[in-house]
Amino acid sequence: MKHMAKPNPDNFQTTREFALASFEQYAKTYEQGHLSRRHWEEYNHVRVFFLGCMDGRHDFERVCKLPTGTVRTYGMRGAFNLGSPWFGHLLVSDVERDVVKHGYALVIESFHFSKCNNAGLGCKAYGHDLTAAREGINLQLAQSRFVWQQEARVLVVAWGYDTDKGDIYMVSEDGSKGTYVSELGIEPSEASVRALLKQYYPSATEKHVKEMAYLILRNSEYIRELKDGVQTVDHTERIVIFGRGALGVFDINTAFRVGPFSDDLFAPLGTAMGIIKQNLEAGRIPSDREILLITAALCEDPHNGPHVRQCQLKAGHFKHAGLEYLFGAPGATKLNELQESLQTLKGKVDVLAGYFEPDMKFIEVCDEDLPNAHLLPKWPLPKVANGKRPDC
Ligand SMILES: [Zn+2]
Repeated sequence: MKHMAKPNPDNFQTTREFALASFEQYAKTYEQGHLSRRHWEEYNHVRVFFLGCMDGRHDFERVCKLPTGTVRTYGMRGAFNLGSPWFGHLLVSDVERDVVKHGYALVIESFHFSKCNNAGLGCKAYGHDLTAAREGINLQLAQSRFVWQQEARVLVVAWGYDTDKGDIYMVSEDGSKGTYVSELGIEPSEASVRALLKQYYPSATEKHVKEMAYLILRNSEYIRELKDGVQTVDHTERIVIFGRGALGVFDINTAFRVGPFSDDLFAPLGTAMGIIKQNLEAGRIPSDREILLITAALCEDPHNGPHVRQCQLKAGHFKHAGLEYLFGAPGATKLNELQESLQTLKGKVDVLAGYFEPDMKFIEVCDEDLPNAHLLPKWPLPKVANGKRPDC
């Protein structure tokens, strides 16, 4: 399926208008991709899970030319920790549900870097250090393999990702070898790719090999088609999506997506806003345009009244607590100058349609309208002398 050209933020008066147009277009793309997606789900027995950084310079579905909404993507800065109560529970139950439904799961744990400028455009969560990022991934792999040991239906792999070219870097199961997709030749044959994958991932089933070969060949196609051989390299993001879903605006160099998967719900939000501040200071984004914080709650049952209303509260909480973290915490003063240009947009994401529902009334609701908003805790929560919170 062909990806539609996404709206260009420079063609809109406000970033918010751009975001709403992007959501609308995403919904259309999603609807148009319905049969492709159904076909994929019906005949493709491997569900792909992609654990990627929040970095706005990569988009796995795009670089593998996949129908929108086919990959289960989890976005956060740096490492995912399966020991984390919320994230660990979520991922394990998502994988289990999809294995029961589809048969197999491929869990891709990714790290990203920039071959053009590794010093400044690698993963910020690892201090732009590629070695540190690979070590971080090894820790993730160890956790995943501990969880899914003996489960042949779940294959866990580590794939690096050069954000300049969208070039995937496959790391062998034992960690001893690595190959860029671009090194496989201009137009590699499926047989040669499958042979390499079998050698790299001895525990993969035939179904996994077939699935990975498909992804690799599509990525090879993407690299081949890339104009000038390089996609926009530098950071120019001006939007942070905080919460789950809201992928309509997640495009290369436009937005960060900060899923609530960390033990510390807000630190990745601070990282994302910090990069946006650098973008402004370096003149990479227009200083007279507002930046946007989108807080999104995933609505899994749109006809369940209490659930829908709880989602509304959740999006409001993300906004309230996120702003409190960014601008209310003593250590956050370095971000204070962003306050003037920051706009917010909150809403619920329809998990079935992948559509960010722009309920205008909801968006216009200010924090004071939330029930008992004045009682919400101030950030940070008080610490006791030894640095631990009283309830730890
Ligand atoms: Zn990163």
